[in-house]
Formats: sequence, structure tokens, C-alpha cells
Amino acid sequence: MSTYEGLPHTTTKSFTLSQKAGDWYISFSYEIESEITEKQHDYVGVDLGIKTLATLSTGVVFVNPKALKQAQSKLNRLQRQLQHKVKGSNRRNRQKLRIAKAHRRVTNIRLDATHKATSFICKNHAVVAIEDFNSSGMMHNHKLAAAVGDANFYEFSRQIEYKATRYGSKVVLVDRWYPSTQLCSNCGFKQPMKLSDRVYSCQECGYTTDRDLNAARNLRKYARMASPCLDVEG
Ligand SMILES: [Zn+2]
Repeated sequence: MSTYEGLPHTTTKSFTLSQKAGDWYISFSYEIESEITEKQHDYVGVDLGIKTLATLSTGVVFVNPKALKQAQSKLNRLQRQLQHKVKGSNRRNRQKLRIAKAHRRVTNIRLDATHKATSFICKNHAVVAIEDFNSSGMMHNHKLAAAVGDANFYEFSRQIEYKATRYGSKVVLVDRWYPSTQLCSNCGFKQPMKLSDRVYSCQECGYTTDRDLNAARNLRKYARMASPCLDVEG
């Protein structure tokens, strides 16, 4: 059996086995002793993306694993094949099970990558600034909603919140109307940005940097203003 994360040595009174799409899962609860870590950095802005899982204001980038793309294309292929199977046939039922398994694999790869990123962030940074994706209004934009679902933004922020508690960091939820993409993280100038613009190039001060890094730096700035609990430079 493999798990996403190392588990602490502990005793547990009961556990549950369950089966999903032919895979077995074990779940149990345990008491967590303090896992608070010493922080390497003070404030960090975390910009979540679709092609890139997350970009930190420190310049650290979490890319989506290659295995995710492979698993996703396999899933798409299996789904196309399903259309050619006769309804109610054994072949169709077997295909459905294959699809469920492939779907589970996509979810597992994505979850694994998300766990690695959120653990790193919460273990190493005292204050984590992340966009607030729990606003219900966001789901009204269907195109955006699809992208959000795909990039697993909700799961990412959910993990950030509980891991911040576990590792002793603080989360600043940044209002989704805050224009982190449009602001220059160097001089504060605001300019429109198309979705296709991958580089931020400030018309005012000439500062040029990666679009996601610029956004992450703005989120960090927001957190410093919203939560000036640390006496730091920068
Ligand atoms: Zn500027």
C-alpha cells in the first residue's frame, strides 16, 4: 500500500476499508501531536494556475506532473470508445469500469501533486496568501468554473487551510476581485491583461516578469497589508 504522505507513528482504534472502481481504500483517524514547523520564509503569495499547479512569490513553481496529462488522455480515449459499445452489453459494462479506474487515476495523480505543494507551502511559510475560491459567485461564470474545477483550486485551498493549522502558519484569503494579475508588483500600476498574455510588462515602470509570478508577488503584498503581524523587510 502506498499513501500520499508519511503518516505519524500512532495507534488507531478502528479503520474502514472501502472499494471504489476496483481499488481498495483504507481510512482511519488518529490524534495529531503538534507538527508545527520552523518557517524559512515570512509571507508567501500563491498563484494557482491551470497549466502550472501553483506559482509562489519566492519563484518556486509547482508544475503539473507529466503523468497527469498521460492519464487524462487515456481517460479521454476510453470515453470515446464507450460510444461504440452496445448499451447493456458486458463489453460496455467492462468499459465503464475501465473509465472509472482511469478517472480515479487522474484524480489520484492530481491529489498527490496538490498534497506535495500544499505541504511544502504550509511547512515553510509563516503567512500564506491565496485567492478565495470559496466565493459562490465564481461558479456563475461557466467557462471559468470548468477551469477552476479542472485545476482543482478548491481542493488546493482546502488543503492549505487545514495544513496551515497543522503546521502553524496563517492563511490570508485574498478577495477574488483583487486584481492580482493586472497590478504591477513593482510599482502598483494597473493595466489590462489578456488571458493569453504570459508575461507582465509594465507600461509605467517597464518591469517585466512572468504573469503568474507577478500575480503571486501581488498576493504576497496584499497579505502584508492585510496581516502585518510580522516585522519583516521586503
Ligand atoms: Zn510597474
